Amino acid sequence: MPLRERLADLDARIGDAARSAGRDPSQITRIVVTKFHPAAMIRELHALGVRDVAESRQQELTAKREELADLPGLRWHMVGQVQTKKARAVRAACDVVHAVDRERLADALHAADPHGPLLDVLLQINLTDDPARGGVRPDGVAALAEHVLAACPSLRVRGVMAVAPLGEPPAAAFARVAEVSQALRRTVPDAAWISAGMSGDFAEAIAAGATHLRIGTAITGPRPVRD
Ligand SMILES: *Cc1c(COP(=O)(O)O)cnc(C)c1O
Repeated sequence: MPLRERLADLDARIGDAARSAGRDPSQITRIVVTKFHPAAMIRELHALGVRDVAESRQQELTAKREELADLPGLRWHMVGQVQTKKARAVRAACDVVHAVDRERLADALHAADPHGPLLDVLLQINLTDDPARGGVRPDGVAALAEHVLAACPSLRVRGVMAVAPLGEPPAAAFARVAEVSQALRRTVPDAAWISAGMSGDFAEAIAAGATHLRIGTAITGPRPVRD
């Protein structure tokens, strides 16, 4: 199926899921995750009207953003884990960082451009017991948010991000994300974004209140294999 049709098909499914959840589809941002695909695919997506794209590795993000600097209105989302030493390069190359999960990373992102334009960030929640998955434990979100508010004035906390763990129904996982989102809003009242839902579970994420979906393969087709 050509890219145009996969995109249209996915958007129709997002619309259906939103309506069955009693939500307005226009309140949901569909981000296309283009990692491992060539920059030419992003150019094609842009021509089809896509404005939000995501990458998961800093070097690939930086290279593609440079290559596509001529495309107007593109918003770049960094959805992968960010090494603290890459914070400067990440801040320079993207508009939203989805996986802020520790004070040191927030500090480094702030220090990279303390007086620059505000950087939108999401606090990644770890829904597993495995620290290697990235993310802050649900009970650590409020403290992390307070740190960002107090110490990182060039960052703007917009909400939360999560990946549903394997081995648990996604609806249950996303219900926990919605609870953490509510709790976060006691600290940061306008931090209403919920970045959740991928190709396999976006309908459940929409039902649980997701505002930003990160969709890769359902739109792009299989990713080229990388070592
Ligand atoms: C790759 C990736 C996605 C997209 O996954 P698909 O299953 O291809 O839709 C979403 N979120 C993150 C954090 C990713 O790394």
